[in-house]
Amino acid sequence: MHFFRYRDGKLHCEDVDLARVADEFGTPLYVYSAGTILDHYTRLDAALAPLDHLICYAVKANSNRAILKLLGDAGAGFDIVSGGELYRVIAAGGDVGKCTFAGVGKSREEMEFALERGVYSFNVESEAELEYIDRIASTKNLRAPIALRANPDVDPHTHAYVSTGSRENKFGIALGELPSVYERAAKMRNIEIVGVQMHIGSQITEAGPFASAISKVTPLVRELKSKYGIMFFSIGGGMGIVYRRALESGSGKWWHNHGPACAGSAFSVRDYADAIVPPLRELGIRVLVEPGRFLVGNAGVLLTRVRYIKQTAEKKFAIVDAGMNDLIRPALYQSYHEIVPVKEPWPVAETDSFPSSKSRSMNKNMNKTEKIDIVGPVCESGDFFVLDREMPKLHEGDLLAIMSAGAYGFMMASNYNSRPLAAEALVRGDKFSLIRKRQTWEDLVRGEVEAEW
Ligand SMILES: *Cc1c(COP(=O)(O)O)cnc(C)c1O
Repeated sequence: MHFFRYRDGKLHCEDVDLARVADEFGTPLYVYSAGTILDHYTRLDAALAPLDHLICYAVKANSNRAILKLLGDAGAGFDIVSGGELYRVIAAGGDVGKCTFAGVGKSREEMEFALERGVYSFNVESEAELEYIDRIASTKNLRAPIALRANPDVDPHTHAYVSTGSRENKFGIALGELPSVYERAAKMRNIEIVGVQMHIGSQITEAGPFASAISKVTPLVRELKSKYGIMFFSIGGGMGIVYRRALESGSGKWWHNHGPACAGSAFSVRDYADAIVPPLRELGIRVLVEPGRFLVGNAGVLLTRVRYIKQTAEKKFAIVDAGMNDLIRPALYQSYHEIVPVKEPWPVAETDSFPSSKSRSMNKNMNKTEKIDIVGPVCESGDFFVLDREMPKLHEGDLLAIMSAGAYGFMMASNYNSRPLAAEALVRGDKFSLIRKRQTWEDLVRGEVEAEW
C-alpha cells in the first residue's frame, strides 16, 4: 500500500500535487509520504501483536531526521550500523534505550559513544569484536549488553549483494560455533548477554527463508534462554517490497500496468506474520524485527525533469536531471524502478479512479508508447534508470516520478561528478515541507583545505 495516486490527471502524494512540490523545491527531489510510512509501521505492529515485540527501524534505509522522528514518535526503536546513525537518532529525539547496534566493523569511538548513551544491545559479529567491546567496557567500568549475530546459512533468494545470511557472507557467526562463543562471553566481566540476533538479507519476497532461518536458530534460542536468561531474539529485517509489476508492452496495457501507481508489499504483512508468529510465540521470548525497506521503500519517489530528448541511429534517450549519484540502485543492483509521468499521459474523465477496460480500449490509439532509455547526466554508461522501457512519448521539461525510491535512495547518494546532493521533502496529508535543503556548489568545496607546505 502507498499513497501515490493520479488525481485529476496529476500524480499526487497523499493530498499534494507532486508538480507543486517540484516547482517549489526544484529537481531532482526526493518526496516521502509520512502517511505511507506510518501505515506500514502500524500494519506491521498490529500483525506482530501476539508477540512481545519491538520494531527497530533500520536507519540506514533512510536516515533523514524527519523520518526518524516520525517513526520514533510512533514508538519504533532503531537498528543502527554506525556511530553517525546513533548521533542522528539522538538528534531526532529517538529513544537510545531502544537501539540495537549492528555492523561488522564497529570502531572504538563508536563503541564508546554507544556504551555511554546506553544502547539496548550491541549485535556482535565476531569473537574479535566481542573481546574488543569487553575491553572498552572495562575501561569505562560498564557492562556492555550484547547479542551475538547468528549466521543461519540460508539462501534468501535475493540479489547477491544483499544476501547476508549464508556461509560465504562476512556477517554473523556460524550456528555451530555460537555456543562456544556465548560461553566465552559469559566469562567476560564487562559483557552482559542479553539476546541473539540474525539478519539474512534484504528485498526478500517470500516467507520461506524467514521461516527456515527461525527454525534453524530456534534450538539455540531455547538453550541460550535457559543458560543465560537472554531477553530477546532479533530476527532482522529484509522484508521485500514490490518494485516491478509485470510489464507488457502495448497501448492499453501500459495503462493497466502503470495507471494506478499503487503497489503493495511483495508478500503481505499477513503472509510474513503467518510464517513467523506461531514459531516465535512458542518460544516465549521478546522478538525484535529490523525492517528498513519495508517501512520506507514504497513511501518515497525521486522527482526528476527531462532535460533533453536525444535520438541516435540506435536508440532514443530521455536525459533527465537526476543521475546515478542521486539513485544508484539500478546501477548497483540492476534494480527495477517504475517511472511514471507526473502529468497523467492519458487522463480519463473519471477522476480518482482507474479507467475501465472500455474507456481504455476507446483510447487505444491515443495510448501510444515507445521504447526509450531514461538516463542521467553523469559521465558513466552505467548512469541509467531504465533501458528500453515502454513509456508514453516524453518531451523536454516533462516531470517524472521514479517510484519506490524511499529506501536506499538518497542514503546512497554521492557528490560524484561534483553534483550537489538533492533536496528532500515530506508530505503529510495536504501539507508538504522541505526536510533537507539542496546542496549548493559552495557545499561541495566546504571542508576542503589547502595542503600546508
Ligand atoms: C540493512 C539491515 C536491516 C534492514 O534491511 P531491510 O532489507 O531494509 O529491511 C536490518 N538489520 C540489519 C542488521 C541490517 O544490516
